[in-house]
Amino acid sequence: MKKTCIKCLLPSDYLNIELNQEGVCQHCRDFQTTDFRGVEQLLKDIEIPLSLNTSKKYDCVVGFSGGRDSTYLLWYVVKVLKLRPLAVFSDDLFIPEIALENIASTCKILGVDLRAIKHNNLKRCIKHHLNAWIKRPVPESLMFINVGERIGYERLVELEAIKEGVKLIWGGRTPIQEEEKYKAELIKFSQSPGRQGKVDWIMGYLKQVILNPSLAANLFCLKVQYQEFMVGKWKKKLILKNNLTIIHPFYDYVHWKEDEIENLLFNDLQWKVPEGKTNTSRFGCEVDSLRQYLFYRTLGYNDTNVDLSYLIRDGQITREAAKLKLEESLDFSEEYIVYILNKAGVKGEKFIKKLEKKYPSKTI
Ligand SMILES: [Zn+2]
Repeated sequence: MKKTCIKCLLPSDYLNIELNQEGVCQHCRDFQTTDFRGVEQLLKDIEIPLSLNTSKKYDCVVGFSGGRDSTYLLWYVVKVLKLRPLAVFSDDLFIPEIALENIASTCKILGVDLRAIKHNNLKRCIKHHLNAWIKRPVPESLMFINVGERIGYERLVELEAIKEGVKLIWGGRTPIQEEEKYKAELIKFSQSPGRQGKVDWIMGYLKQVILNPSLAANLFCLKVQYQEFMVGKWKKKLILKNNLTIIHPFYDYVHWKEDEIENLLFNDLQWKVPEGKTNTSRFGCEVDSLRQYLFYRTLGYNDTNVDLSYLIRDGQITREAAKLKLEESLDFSEEYIVYILNKAGVKGEKFIKKLEKKYPSKTI
């Protein structure tokens, strides 16, 4: 295994890492436990949006991806907050069968209405972006691969809430995801602190396109790239105009506890996981699995390093136990990756061979 921070599992070449003389990274040095505001405050803060609802059927809307985080969120809204949510699911056509089964059974067990909305933006873009990316396979441009995914789910929940006359929306953001920012930061032109603005992002994007023009050589994909760049701004406008309230309970109200969540998913919600897997993380969207594999192959780390490092700092897991989990997660099935690539429309084995040439697996 690579050399890492002595307290967490961030490797010594992690983006912008600064290890001190003792070998401790700045994320560990600066870590502060969050002072969560608590459930009572949460219940107080939702009184106003609830009073503005015109829907007789629903109290709120939950963006439901079928992943672990939003499944727990849905359970929490129903069982702890005693609300009647509508679950909105954005189907990007790369959702494995087992995840679809979990989605349906969770909603059934919780007695929640599920609205699944299919969209094909990702499917229409991915072949082009994969073929373009492999011409110059660098981690900085990996963010092109899932173009079309975001445009599908961003604003979807808000539009359904507006349609139903609901003002309260639940979001699944956790402090852990905040740590996964490296994926978006990689493309930035300058990595020096204080220069992390939009201009650096645009310059970084242009740099990747100049170095690999095929990334921008498809008109439809270019349009979707632009839409995804703008979607955050459009979403903000929509929220303001319609007076919607979005709350992320596990971000600042309630402590996210990994163990309790795994227990609940396996026992109360009867989750199924793919054969050979022992935990509930990451078997949602197939394109996300592919990206995690590619981040690992090109950088030597991925979200698992980041997530586990957060849990170590937060005192939820020991470094030793996390190390074992990390090793287990790195046991990628190449067969599955080839299957995803083929499904995306590219020649999977050829793609892996090209990748192997630039990043021989022995060196990781
Ligand atoms: Zn650290």
